[in-house]
Amino acid sequence: MAGDRDIRALRASAYTVPTDGPEADGTYAWSKTTLVLVEVEAADETGLGYTYADASLCGLIGTTLVEVVVGRDAFDIPGARAALQRHVRNLGRSGLCACALSAIDAALWDLKAKLLAQPLAFLLGRARDRVPVYGSGGFTTYDDERLTEQLAGWVAQGCRFVKMKIGVHDAHDAHRVEVARAAIGDRGLFVDANGAYDVPTALAFSHRNADLAIDWFEEPVTSDDPRGLRAVRDGAPPGMAVAAGEYIYTADDARHLLEAGAVDVLQADVTRCGGVSGFLDVAALCEAHHTDLSGHCAPSLHRHVACGVQRLRHVEWFHDHVRIEQMLFEGAPTLERGAMTPDLREPGHGLVFKQADAARFLVGGHA
Ligand SMILES: [Mg+2]
Repeated sequence: MAGDRDIRALRASAYTVPTDGPEADGTYAWSKTTLVLVEVEAADETGLGYTYADASLCGLIGTTLVEVVVGRDAFDIPGARAALQRHVRNLGRSGLCACALSAIDAALWDLKAKLLAQPLAFLLGRARDRVPVYGSGGFTTYDDERLTEQLAGWVAQGCRFVKMKIGVHDAHDAHRVEVARAAIGDRGLFVDANGAYDVPTALAFSHRNADLAIDWFEEPVTSDDPRGLRAVRDGAPPGMAVAAGEYIYTADDARHLLEAGAVDVLQADVTRCGGVSGFLDVAALCEAHHTDLSGHCAPSLHRHVACGVQRLRHVEWFHDHVRIEQMLFEGAPTLERGAMTPDLREPGHGLVFKQADAARFLVGGHA
């Protein structure tokens, strides 16, 4: 019977979707986002995964990695994962390769759950049945009115926390944080500098705004500098958590941040850190370091696995990705009282790609 589960196809396609306005954080500006979709087939089921990366991944996945995956038993995800990791050794296992492997891993888990006719949350096992999220956007391109409207909108939908970008102009940041605090009342306020500051600037910012009760300071300095993150953590006002981890590509990346005591809360992203399998690895490291985990972006792909992680604090309800996922996937989560809930009537991730709607955004691979 094992032959019935053999993987017979793997394909990738890429879709570039314009943002709904100019967007920027403290270190980067963008006007469009590319989603790379991976589909993997066995028996009469198709598993679906994706990453937010570059259309060039269609070539890597569709012409190189396909040979590693096709023909394997669809249930043996660790075997596929190990073979893929070996295969990209000389390409560099982080960055784009990690994004490709993450999308493939997520597709394999979706496929396995579909072959078993179970929602992924049941296959992984649940520690909770709904996943708290925090609204995330507050781009540095927004004026006060847009910032207020967006953050207050998430609070009205039940979010207990919201996040905004900072780090472009220090003086302007202080004003924007005041605007945000006024918009959300006593809800948790997160700021994300995307590595824009050095340690003294980050500490000066956090103390100057201590009366605004900032609950979370994300990447105050680059996450390539765990000692710098640790220094901010040691010197920050009480109650301000330091968070980082969105560029975790391997379990070693997570270990390095945890061993350095760099964060109060570790972040990880299913679409970068090795998919569902990688996220579970990071969760185990968090368990061993008594540190909470927060899911970064791509809420539709975190929804099921986040239910199974004991130390999960929340998942990021990122404006761009929420918008794209609701455009491109039937079954994308909606926000209900500040949380998302897996649809347990549907197998796998519960996502169906809207091929016809997505066609106009196709930039690579085969739809
Ligand atoms: Mg961030």
